[in-house]
Amino acid sequence: MDTQEIIQAEARYLVPTYSRPQIVLTRGEGSYLFDREGKRYLDFAAGIAVTALGHAHPAWLEAVREQSQVLTHVSNLFHSEPQVELARRLVESSFADRVFFSNTGSEANEAAFKFSRKWARGNYGEDKTEVIAFEGAFHGRTMGALSLTYKPAYRLPFAPLVSGVTFLPFNDLAAAERAISERVCAVFVEPIQGESGVHVADSEFLAGLRRLCDRYHALLVFDEVQCGLGRTGRLWAHEWSGVSPDIMTLAKPLAGGLPIGATLVTGPVAEAIEVGDHGSTFAAGPLICSVACAVFDEINQPDLLQRVAQNGENLRAELLAIGEDRILALRGRGLLLGVQWEGPVKPLIEAARQRGLIVITAGEEVLRICPPLTITPEEIEAGLEKLAESWNALERIDGD
Ligand SMILES: *Cc1c(COP(=O)(O)O)cnc(C)c1O
Repeated sequence: MDTQEIIQAEARYLVPTYSRPQIVLTRGEGSYLFDREGKRYLDFAAGIAVTALGHAHPAWLEAVREQSQVLTHVSNLFHSEPQVELARRLVESSFADRVFFSNTGSEANEAAFKFSRKWARGNYGEDKTEVIAFEGAFHGRTMGALSLTYKPAYRLPFAPLVSGVTFLPFNDLAAAERAISERVCAVFVEPIQGESGVHVADSEFLAGLRRLCDRYHALLVFDEVQCGLGRTGRLWAHEWSGVSPDIMTLAKPLAGGLPIGATLVTGPVAEAIEVGDHGSTFAAGPLICSVACAVFDEINQPDLLQRVAQNGENLRAELLAIGEDRILALRGRGLLLGVQWEGPVKPLIEAARQRGLIVITAGEEVLRICPPLTITPEEIEAGLEKLAESWNALERIDGD
């Protein structure tokens, strides 16, 4: 099939949940993607912050090759070593004592939701079931995770959702103080809200939520599905705030492009969970976990984290330099940046793609930049050049 035939067949055979540009991607190498016509694109999106090591990274390929030849899947009816290796890495590098594995970010949050309810019921009785989440939050698309996701367009067609969730304004500690009570079992928050436009939680906000959760015996849940695992220049995004959660959820970059979710918990949370309480057929198979171990070992290195922070700083400074009066706000940390734009960013994204740069949105008016963590300063430079050309081209059209 050629490009047009693939696009037409997709329109015929797939449930139409996605709106996509008119290209078909066929190959990836490092920070570059190639389409069916052989056109090369610099990848400033990394599959939505997933391909953290870029495409076809040698360590990733080696892990896939080695483990897939030996054993891919056994189900969770049996022991296997790679999931233990991965859990050990996550526990030893975080606040957590134990890990539950799943397959996606939504599922990682489903587990956090269920564990919170069970922990609260066992320790404090039947009435402690309420959950606080925040305006702008994105925690996923399955019914439980969707109940914690703010955007009405995502939620309303599927109501009624899981009850007992209250949304409060993000970064507004006073509102949280007014709303929280002993009936709350968990507070879900992204240290950096990704999908809704790259909004960074203030350290004082997170510290305040920590105090409230302690006072009202609620669990603090950090959703680091997008901002965690080195994206901000530290291993965990919450390190910037010095605040520790009771639960942290991970997914997107954890296996560098293969599906995995993880829910990291403290000992007391884990103690509330018994055999049979939760599970997954696919989760934490030997192949995924071997690959995730390889990804984790690449990311969890001072050198790499330092480079992410430094590249992020440079990227930010140069965006401000080329964007000047066109940028309304520049938010984010490390290699997760949101450029608030005046008006819709779709035309800019389109113009950039024509020039061989893939960038994505975070909401209608925010350009999201989240390249592979392995991107080089030269590649960043090249991408910014394309972005500047796209800006200029659009202004010429606007000026006509
Ligand atoms: C992407 C995302 C999710 C959902 O992950 P899926 O793998 O799409 O289910 C949850 N939380 C955050 C912060 C995300 O960015």
